[in-house]
Amino acid sequence: MKNRGLIERLDHGPVICAEGFLFEIEKRGYLSSGEFVPMVSLENPNALENLHRDFQHAGSDIVQAFTYNGHREKMRVIGKEDLLEPLNRAALKVAKKVATSPLGDEQNLMAGNISNSNLWKPNDKKSKLEVEKIFREMVDWAVDEGADILIGETFYYAEEAYVALKIMKETDLPTVITVAPYGQSFLRDGVSIIDTCKELEQRGGDVVGMNCHRGPNTMLPHLKEIRKILKCHVAGLPISYRTTEKNPTFFNLPDNNGCICSSPHETTFPTALDPMQCNRYEIGQFAKEAYNLGINYLGICCGANPMLIREVAEAVGLTVPASKYRENLENHYMYGKNKRLLKHIKDYRSKA
Ligand SMILES: [Zn+2]
Repeated sequence: MKNRGLIERLDHGPVICAEGFLFEIEKRGYLSSGEFVPMVSLENPNALENLHRDFQHAGSDIVQAFTYNGHREKMRVIGKEDLLEPLNRAALKVAKKVATSPLGDEQNLMAGNISNSNLWKPNDKKSKLEVEKIFREMVDWAVDEGADILIGETFYYAEEAYVALKIMKETDLPTVITVAPYGQSFLRDGVSIIDTCKELEQRGGDVVGMNCHRGPNTMLPHLKEIRKILKCHVAGLPISYRTTEKNPTFFNLPDNNGCICSSPHETTFPTALDPMQCNRYEIGQFAKEAYNLGINYLGICCGANPMLIREVAEAVGLTVPASKYRENLENHYMYGKNKRLLKHIKDYRSKA
């Protein structure tokens, strides 16, 4: 069976990576929103494996171990530090199992994953050392469990991203490093998005780019700039929500459709974003535009589901197992054109 490395694959065309496990596993009923701890690898490993398989079926080339937020500090917050290593190893094992039983003629790539620690404090040596330790132990477990690549993601401090990259580069695995600036459009330590990405390339990141926080509309302009300036492969994995110039991230996104509920939720994030979900065509258009710019590492972060991942894959010219079930309105009883469909039923369409 074929098993090319990440860079060889990217040199030859698009590579798809499904992210967004927190939101999708929460929707499936196996994780608490807000708290967002990936206990699913220990408590319901089958549910996690199912999601990986659904993403694989939809065309994800990378099986990213669900260890986002599964770091020592978060485990301390919920008082379960003793489960840190078991959680990480279980998530990595599930990912490895799926990656090594692909649906096509090539192995998937299993990715170890580190991310924003929420512990980073600028110019604080103690915080830096603690974050390094948090990253290093997770990277060690990933290597131990057979990761093919390492992904560092969702960093909103440039310096924290540099540290993540440094730790990942202590291994000889290919690295993907993506940043997730907030609404101010620079990293929280004041470094611009483009300067952070340039620095990450300089420091040896194999794939550099952006993920999370921003939807297609408010991420693409930055990706364009990054692609223009960087020489390495670029990654683009937006959230699947309709962010706007006024609200570039999903954190303060208002529900312009007018929420009709009387529940006391103060914000739409993270539990009432549903009405702002991009449809498949919007996601397909993003993927196509990004790919045409020369961005070969593509996916969706929060809000991703298998249907949208298939859309990304197909938008860049791939046919995936789930393509068999792409929409077919031809045989719809009212919208279709099939000869057997009754005229008086079809004619009623505008009043339906
Ligand atoms: Zn995300």
